[in-house]
Amino acid sequence: MPPGSLPTKAAVLAEDDSEDEDDWYQNVAQSAKLIEDVTPDFIGFQQHLLKMNPHLRAVNHEYLVDRIAQHQIDRYERLLSLRVKHHQAVAAGNCASESMCIALGGHAILLHPAMDDLDLDLDGNISSLGGTVNPESVPPDIPLPPTSSLPAEVECQLCFSTVGITKPSDWTKHVHEDVQPFTCTWEGCKFTGMFKRKADWVRHENEAHRRLEWWTCDVDDCGHVCSRRDNFLQHIVREHRFPEPKANPSSVMKLAQRINWDLTWAKVDQCHHKTTNVPQDEPCRFCGKTFSTWERLTAHLARHMALSSLQVLKVVAREVLDKVTIIDPITEPPPVGPPNPVSFLERMPSPSTPPGLLF
Ligand SMILES: [Zn+2]
Ligand SMILES: [Zn+2]
Ligand SMILES: [Zn+2]
Ligand SMILES: [Zn+2]
Ligand SMILES: [Zn+2]
Repeated sequence: MPPGSLPTKAAVLAEDDSEDEDDWYQNVAQSAKLIEDVTPDFIGFQQHLLKMNPHLRAVNHEYLVDRIAQHQIDRYERLLSLRVKHHQAVAAGNCASESMCIALGGHAILLHPAMDDLDLDLDGNISSLGGTVNPESVPPDIPLPPTSSLPAEVECQLCFSTVGITKPSDWTKHVHEDVQPFTCTWEGCKFTGMFKRKADWVRHENEAHRRLEWWTCDVDDCGHVCSRRDNFLQHIVREHRFPEPKANPSSVMKLAQRINWDLTWAKVDQCHHKTTNVPQDEPCRFCGKTFSTWERLTAHLARHMALSSLQVLKVVAREVLDKVTIIDPITEPPPVGPPNPVSFLERMPSPSTPPGLLF
């Protein structure tokens, strides 16, 4: 926004929007409804995304709809195949999770909390043993693990490998690893993969596309460009023999060393460049809202993506029975079904908002 001009109404609304948990729960409920009759193919996932985000059609972000729909198919096929394989292992009675296999009547193994995780009161007594994982301790679109007590080792009901969980965020991280919810949102991007971790996705978009900051080496017309400070530091130390700064400078460091060290940092600062773009120049591709910081913008974009990607879990849970009957028509489905699809669906709040996602 040019200095002195008044903020637009849309900008004010975006600033006031705190994206609180209530809105998020309503969005999750809304998207849960929208996935109900989706056919798990390219067109089905395209339509689902457009229904969730009508703005995508209005701004003609066809590349993004296609890219996300393709990723949704990749996720769907991977998770479905893991489920079918697990079903076959269970039918043969040899699931690798052994006593933790839920379908074979097993259960999570509760672990002793590490000393670091114990809360000790003033007298040194243990005031809490481990913790719990419940609908309040993970984001609303994350299915619950097959344990409520932590720490524990469980059989994940999405990938069917065993996972150690010390705190609720370990579980959220694991679900994100299984689903890989994040996709680059920039047109023309050469990277076609999905991102498991939000931080990696943010770094990719910021470094490859937004170019928020960079370092251009000006030693002897070198011109080498780095998008990370650490890499630039390494460059001037290795290529131009600048003294390497130590992590913990000693107080008795020789004056000459200290001067050299300052020279290195001065060079890093001197070569540093920052974008002149502002976050308001980049309205959210999914809904058009603008944000005052890059952090808020990327956090918001990530929520849009997680919201639609995680819906694939419901489609997998729904379709798996058809698949296992086709592949394995003699075997009955296991008597004790995996609990997650049920608990996942049950924990969805009933939709109380009109169509259209809030954020
Ligand atoms: Zn199993
Ligand atoms: Zn898993
Ligand atoms: Zn990209
Ligand atoms: Zn250089
Ligand atoms: Zn948005």
